[in-house]
Amino acid sequence: MTAQLIDGKAVAAAIHEEVRAAAADLKARLGYAPGLATVLVGDDPASHSYVKAKRKACAEDGIDSFPHELPAETSEADVIALVQKLGEDPKVHGILVQLPMPKHINEEKVLNTVPITKDVDGFHPVNIGKLGMKNREPSFAPCTPAGIIELLDRTGVKIEGANAVVLGRSNIVGLPVSLLLLGRNATVTICHSRTRDIGSVTRQAAILVAAIGKPHFVKADMVKPGAVVIDVGVNRVEDATKKSGYRLVGDCDFDAVKEVASAITPVPGGVGPLTIAMLMKNTLKAAQK
Ligand code: NAP
Repeated sequence: MTAQLIDGKAVAAAIHEEVRAAAADLKARLGYAPGLATVLVGDDPASHSYVKAKRKACAEDGIDSFPHELPAETSEADVIALVQKLGEDPKVHGILVQLPMPKHINEEKVLNTVPITKDVDGFHPVNIGKLGMKNREPSFAPCTPAGIIELLDRTGVKIEGANAVVLGRSNIVGLPVSLLLLGRNATVTICHSRTRDIGSVTRQAAILVAAIGKPHFVKADMVKPGAVVIDVGVNRVEDATKKSGYRLVGDCDFDAVKEVASAITPVPGGVGPLTIAMLMKNTLKAAQK
């Protein structure tokens, strides 16, 4: 069997289109566009390119962006003061604090300053806590995990009652996607670096989410025939045929796993495009509230 490729770019494009239409409608009816403030401290090139991509998406989707780029030596107190000011600004509906921050800044303190109603990244502990509680609705779910659920839904995968196995328990992917799957009534097992005999667990999965950051970790014999595989990993491996000297691969041995799974996300072009699409969707939701 060769698996169906889950096209993350197409799903993300559909979400951007929906956001664009709803943002234009909001502006026509109420006279304002959704607004996203980005806070970036320091000169990390990857962070700069992520923030640039987010601002580009805002421009394309009809969302106002309010960029704040601060020098690396900015004090923690000044970053917190800025986030507080943005929290009170009515034009700003969502606040995105780009991580990582320079070492002298306590990221947890800064993130806790973001009002939960503007926490479009979904990382505020109150929002994460509500994600794990029965009959509670967080203001926002974290973007990559929420994007994984969109991919499953828009591919027609039935989550309710399914055995779902998540590899990884990080705050940004593994744990929140596990909570979202649980909230959708999947039977969820979470694996991590101390899990024994991972293959015996992953072979039970109808839905397998791999988010550990280890290239080609998931082999074909770890996957139940017919499973849906969501590969979140983004790993650089050397490739002399590329100008850059490397290429990106996921956490799955894609060529082998696709012969066992019924559907699989490629890397790149699978989960990746969903992160920014869901950020736009969360910012729209913040403005609609
Ligand atoms: P992370 O914070 O490093 O967490 C990795 C998780 O994997 C941890 O829970 C760790 O277990 C577990 N793990 C590590 N080695 C393992 C092993 N050999 N067996 C089983 N579990 C193992 O990583 P992350 O931030 O969640 O990111 C995971 C991957 O997703 C990375 O490749 C990252 O680049 C990618 N990612 C992609 C997107 C996207 O938009 N596509 C967004 C975010 C992240 P312990 O908890 O026991 O240490």
